[in-house]
Amino acid sequence: MREQALERLKEIFGYAEFRGQQADIIDEVAQGRDALVLMPTGGGKSLCYQIPGLLRDGLTVVVSPLIALMDDQVATLNELGLKAAALNSTLTDQAQREIAEQMRAGDLDFLYLAPERLLKPRTLHFLQSLKISLFAIDEAHCVSQWGHDFRPEYLQLGQLAELFPDVPRMALTATADERTQGDITQRLKLEAARCFISGFDRPNIFYRIVPKDKPRQQLLNMLARHKGNAGIVYCLSRKKVDETAAWLSAQGWPALPYHAGLPSELRATHQKRFLNEEGLIMVATIAFGMGIDKSNVRFVAHMDLPKSVEAYYQETGRAGRDGLPADAWMAYGLQDVLMLNQIMANSEGDERHKRIERHKLDAMLGLCEITTCRRQMLLDYFGETMPEPCGHCDNCVEPAATWDGSEAAKMALSSAYRSGQRYGVGHLIDILLGRDNEKIRSAGHQHLSTYGIGKQLSEQEWRSVFRQLIARGLAEIDLDGYGSLRLSDSCRPLLRGEETLALRKDVSRSAALPSRSEKAVVAEADKPLWEALRALRKQLAESHGVPPYVIFPDSTLVDMLRQRPANLQDMGLVSGIGAHKLERYGADFLQVMLGDAGAVQDAPLDIAQEAQALAMAGMGAEQIARQLDMPVKQVYMQLAQAVGLGKLPLNRAIDLPPGQLERIQDAFLNLAEEDLPGVRTLAKELDEPVEEGVLHCIRAALIHEISGA
Ligand code: ADP
Ligand code: ZN
Repeated sequence: MREQALERLKEIFGYAEFRGQQADIIDEVAQGRDALVLMPTGGGKSLCYQIPGLLRDGLTVVVSPLIALMDDQVATLNELGLKAAALNSTLTDQAQREIAEQMRAGDLDFLYLAPERLLKPRTLHFLQSLKISLFAIDEAHCVSQWGHDFRPEYLQLGQLAELFPDVPRMALTATADERTQGDITQRLKLEAARCFISGFDRPNIFYRIVPKDKPRQQLLNMLARHKGNAGIVYCLSRKKVDETAAWLSAQGWPALPYHAGLPSELRATHQKRFLNEEGLIMVATIAFGMGIDKSNVRFVAHMDLPKSVEAYYQETGRAGRDGLPADAWMAYGLQDVLMLNQIMANSEGDERHKRIERHKLDAMLGLCEITTCRRQMLLDYFGETMPEPCGHCDNCVEPAATWDGSEAAKMALSSAYRSGQRYGVGHLIDILLGRDNEKIRSAGHQHLSTYGIGKQLSEQEWRSVFRQLIARGLAEIDLDGYGSLRLSDSCRPLLRGEETLALRKDVSRSAALPSRSEKAVVAEADKPLWEALRALRKQLAESHGVPPYVIFPDSTLVDMLRQRPANLQDMGLVSGIGAHKLERYGADFLQVMLGDAGAVQDAPLDIAQEAQALAMAGMGAEQIARQLDMPVKQVYMQLAQAVGLGKLPLNRAIDLPPGQLERIQDAFLNLAEEDLPGVRTLAKELDEPVEEGVLHCIRAALIHEISGA
């Protein structure tokens, strides 16, 4: 059995070896036994039922909750030369009859359907008249009320055990704590099934969490590493989604909004574009996600704090399903905590429920503020031990600096205590800084002994102190909905001076250069070839009416770059190229590899347009200058003009290391009086040398932005 399985893996799927427990799982199921498979996203669950399905005689029935997901899977199988179909309500009667005919004729390998469809008596009856090789129940956690994806129809799937006693059944999921596991086993009648549990770790994801400072700028700095990559930016509110998407677009990043408040057709269009086009950024509320099967999401950014570690894990887990390096990035601040507290305070539900929610939020905050390995803590939360720090998160690669915050903490806590534990952080900071305002005077707080004793720290630093006090449970925010800060019992030893408190230093680590370990997927030198391969893939995808990654996942293109096949035989050795795909696409991709990518360019009308077009195509100013045989300076002037007119996004005109653009923009704005300063004036003020042409472009972009065009 194992040998046959390996043969299918190579021949059809084009992979050299099984990963993790795949071989054992496939062996178990192919021999007709039940199985429960827990594997993190991207672990390769699909193969675990697809290969046994091929090894066993008859039709493999796959139960899946979402139509969008099914269509993708079916397209992927068809591209591999396998016979698969999805039965759903969007099909015409005629199409449904044809599928039924195929099934009757034994001419279909895989059938995907939603549980409600499967459980219709007519469907069950029909299936009983056929030879079924296997039932695969995907997203099996939907059977449990504990998760957030509960689907009552899943409860009925237990019937399959009695109706098809001789057909093996397997349940697959990426999210299942022990309680959910228990539910799956019991409700799907899988008591006899062997469990295959792989850990929760997603080794290819780099975790980074930064304190919110200027979140939009921080986001841009992060995005600088992700030009041309697809990603998701999560925001808490619909309004913020709209604003962030609009702002990113204005900065030249291809961003689309997605939330439940948008008309459903628009939502569907945006989702489709995200799946089908390269390099789009989806700015979304958490309404977006379940059912996103796009394998090459390169980053997930959180502009607001998720409400639990589970949510964080699931949302960040949408990055890097293809196993290539991916970033999980988040900016969070005190405001987030207040906001989530407020939402919780106003939510329905009893005290007990609120307490649970509160604990979950506390754990999330803890993850933000720890100074040790994030991955260790994340896995620990799910009950898994990682003996050594991971070496692949922000805290591992740039150990956080700490300072003795004992005195500051005492000041902060006693300000809260002396003002009656009825005020929020903003007011407490006003007290500490000795500010004079209406609220201070009407409460008589200028007479408190803590008034003005905290002037050695800035407002920003005080915010950081309060945030960390809350995250460590030394103070807590009242659920009164006003954000009042109360002391917790656990702060007593600190107040009495029996304990010291090391606080994390919030130096703007966000401005630090990206560390070496946040690897790019493709080396800079390979970019042109990579783009050419992607362009071909897109063209093929369009003509086949499927998303690009269904033709080849990014991992296949990356392997192609690594192996540089020079003939069809070598092409067949590339990971993810099986016999069918080699025959279909091998020659086309080989041609691109060998440099025959006859990229046709329309004849540009004049120098300005030509420079702009080349910049859009990804060329830097130097390159354009060589191409057009003109001085770099002149190229920059052309580009600045296009930027000022809003015809060229700034990030296409210039390419600066992260952080530098922000510094220059700040310098411009700081020096601005009525107008922005001229480029020369600014150049003198900057303490880093920057090409004048670059400054011209940045200035033009600012003017364009300020004028609100
Ligand atoms: P999951 O459903 O667990 O999230 P998928 O089944 O979608 O994961 O697999 C993730 C990616 O890994 C897919 O591109 C798949 O083709 C690839 N893959 C799966 N198994 C292997 C393997 N043994 N070798 C190489 N790539 C694999
Ligand atoms: Zn780590």
